[in-house]
This record gives sequence, structure tokens and C-alpha cells, in this order.
Amino acid sequence: MIVFDLKCEGQGHVFEAWFGSSADYADQKARGLLACPLCGDTRIGKALMAPAVAAKGNQRREIIPQQQSAAEAETAPVAAGPDEAKMRALVKALADAQKKVLEGSTWVGRGFAEQARAMHYGEQDKDSIHGEVAPAEAKALAEEGINVAQLPFPVIPPEAKN
Ligand SMILES: [Zn+2]
Repeated sequence: MIVFDLKCEGQGHVFEAWFGSSADYADQKARGLLACPLCGDTRIGKALMAPAVAAKGNQRREIIPQQQSAAEAETAPVAAGPDEAKMRALVKALADAQKKVLEGSTWVGRGFAEQARAMHYGEQDKDSIHGEVAPAEAKALAEEGINVAQLPFPVIPPEAKN
């Protein structure tokens, strides 16, 4: 079975119809057996197909900025709600909270995983650090029992601010 989104020419109603195959659809259309369930129009054609989801996903990956704390992240943090003002306030509160946390933390960039391990295994004094790490590496750190949290917002490395 195959489902098509069909559309009547008269009033542009869009409706779904099932057929045994593409050929069945063509055959029924040719014999005038297709009719719009809403207005009875027999001038029926295929409605435009929705864009493919996979293609969208691929495009999204390419526009993730490299500065993001987890540059190769599969998903980007997002929030949604009916009240735009409340959502903005929430995002601002999160941004302020992140800024506060990072005030006492040292940017270590790509050296994050190495330093996090050194602290965890006692080779280095414990301190708050933040930097960049690939998702697979973050998972490996977590499995070793090292506390790693993804930051809600991208961090601009200090060397990039100059
Ligand atoms: Zn119709």
C-alpha cells in the first residue's frame, strides 16, 4: 500500500488516499474514479510532498558554530514556551548563571579532557575548569566517574576576544 497527499483542483482541498501502487493511482485517476471527499471534484492531482526530514538534519549539523563548547554536539540546547517574555527571562537567567559559574573557572580549551582526568586521578590540584570536548570524549569522562556538565551556552575562548 502507498499513501498519497491528493488535492482537488476546484477548491484546493488536500486529503490522503491509499492505493495498492503508484500504477493504481494513475489508473483510477485516468478512469475518473478519484473524487475530493469534501466537494466531490473529480479533477484530482498530487499535492506537493513535504520536504525530507533527513536533508534538514544534515543541514543543521553544518551550521553549528565551531566555538560551541561541544562543537560536534548532536543537538543544540533549545527551549520553547507560549510566553516569549518569560522565555527570554529564562534564557537570560541561565546565561547569567553560566557567567557566574565561569567566573571562578579557568578556560582550558581543547586541553579540557586531559586536565579533567589529571584532577580526577590526583595528578593535579582540583579546580573548576571549562573548555571544549567532543561528545564521545565527554561520555568517556562521565564513564570514568568524572563530573562533566555541558554548558547551556557557547563560550568564547579568551584568546578569541582580543
Ligand atoms: Zn475539494
